[in-house]
Amino acid sequence: MSDLDHNLRILRPFLDRIAQSGIQNHIGGAPQPAASGAWFDTRAPFDDSVIARVARSDSTDIDRAAQVAKTAFPAWRDTPATERKRILHAIADGIEARAEEIALCECWDTGQALRYMSKAALRGAENFRFFADRAESARDGQTLPSPRLMNITTRVPIGPVGIITPWNTPFMLSTWKIAPALAAGCTVVHKPAELSPWTARILIEIAEAAGLPPGVWNLVNGYGAEAGRALTEHPDIRAIAFVGEGQTGAAIMAQGAPTLKRLHFELGGKNPIIVFDDADLDTALDAVMFMAFSLNGERCTAASRLLVQESIADAFEAALVKRTQALKVGHPLDPQTEVGPLISAAHQAKVMQSVEIARTEGATIAVGGTSGTGKGHWVAPTVFTQAAPDMTVSQAEIFGPTLTSIRFGTEDEALAIANDTPYGLTAFLWTANITRAMRMTEALEAGMVWVNTANVRHLPTPFGGMKSSGIGRDGGDWSFDVYMEQKHIGLGTADPNIPRLGV
Ligand code: NAD
Repeated sequence: MSDLDHNLRILRPFLDRIAQSGIQNHIGGAPQPAASGAWFDTRAPFDDSVIARVARSDSTDIDRAAQVAKTAFPAWRDTPATERKRILHAIADGIEARAEEIALCECWDTGQALRYMSKAALRGAENFRFFADRAESARDGQTLPSPRLMNITTRVPIGPVGIITPWNTPFMLSTWKIAPALAAGCTVVHKPAELSPWTARILIEIAEAAGLPPGVWNLVNGYGAEAGRALTEHPDIRAIAFVGEGQTGAAIMAQGAPTLKRLHFELGGKNPIIVFDDADLDTALDAVMFMAFSLNGERCTAASRLLVQESIADAFEAALVKRTQALKVGHPLDPQTEVGPLISAAHQAKVMQSVEIARTEGATIAVGGTSGTGKGHWVAPTVFTQAAPDMTVSQAEIFGPTLTSIRFGTEDEALAIANDTPYGLTAFLWTANITRAMRMTEALEAGMVWVNTANVRHLPTPFGGMKSSGIGRDGGDWSFDVYMEQKHIGLGTADPNIPRLGV
């Protein structure tokens, strides 16, 4: 039996189970359909087959979940940190125990290839362990004595929070947001993306089996304009942590304004990977391929703009085209697959439209540019060359398996091109010149800059973007800035010397 057949066989009972139960909401510890009784279908990117029906929730369900999260908040806030830590570790154990199921379901629901997703569940477990170990210090503060005061600072959890996640790597991103919220002592209402809701359902089952009290974490499925919107507008939800597109972020900002929501945004990118002629070009090419095409290019940190120095551009682009032609496009559950089908027919059409725009604007389609036939949402890995920095394919996030190659002459030119987009999430730099690397890292407008390496996530470091790529940072202690309030307490230590009025 091939590895693919083996994986399909393991997936089958999970598919049967979810097809039978549907993907319900989970509020106050109980699975439940939407109050209206409405459903929509989630479909597999591979063949457009229906996976399951999903609760189509609206403001009634969100209100129910927000009320439950509000009621559960005081007890969870006051649960000893050692106990919260224990539960979060137990959730990590539960994720590890179901890692294979999570990986296979995630691939089927998103179209992402198993070679990447097989690690996603384990990374999700790591997120829970990392924040479990920080639960005990989350409320720590400083002592800042002044002449007549002992000033102390402490942090308290902000209250019930809303978490809204996208479809590209839903499991990992959900854990990344929910684990610190729970460690901080917040309760949660989670609205996963309508296009890939399956693993969020598995995750909440794991959390409650691990001993998380009912109502601390609630799951509400549905469309962004319905359930998502209601969550951002709800007066009892104190903050929204959102991962998704910039335009959606702007809408959420407006929706949250009347209730003065605290907002944390992880948005899109058009990340440059800059290759100078003195770089280790073989490794740089590996990095370009990996950062452009892994996860189908449906990745916020994707290096979707190659900036290559003119002196090496012909040879580098030729090698790039050859490697792109050789990418293994295939079934998401086949361990050999490097690029899988895209999430939806609409997204496939959007990526294909970018090919047309590239052609119209005068870029060369050096490889790819075609879509597959049949029911799956395939787009061939594509490289645009002869691209100018102001072309649409050099400016807009495509979020698919495409790479735009732009040539530069000097360091100043590379920097100007790199910074000339509305985005500022990551930048990748390949050069052997350490002085130049230092100069460039200072000047690049990006929340994360990687020099002579791919994007390797280290949880204590800050993750997030500048400009239109986001507001706020995840990781380390920065996550607690989202989910906690700083408090100052001043204790008099001497005669307070208060001016006497009305004497
Ligand atoms: P999206 O913005 O369309 O949807 C994200 C989530 O927002 C979904 O759950 C959706 O239902 C919800 N939503 C939509 N409209 C809403 C509204 N009016 N109010 C409240 N919620 C609403 O994004 P997507 O297409 O699912 O994901 C792709 C985008 O996410 C890309 O731009 C990508 O770069 C970005 N992304 C960023 C990061 C990061 O960490 N910076 C990580 C992954 C993805």
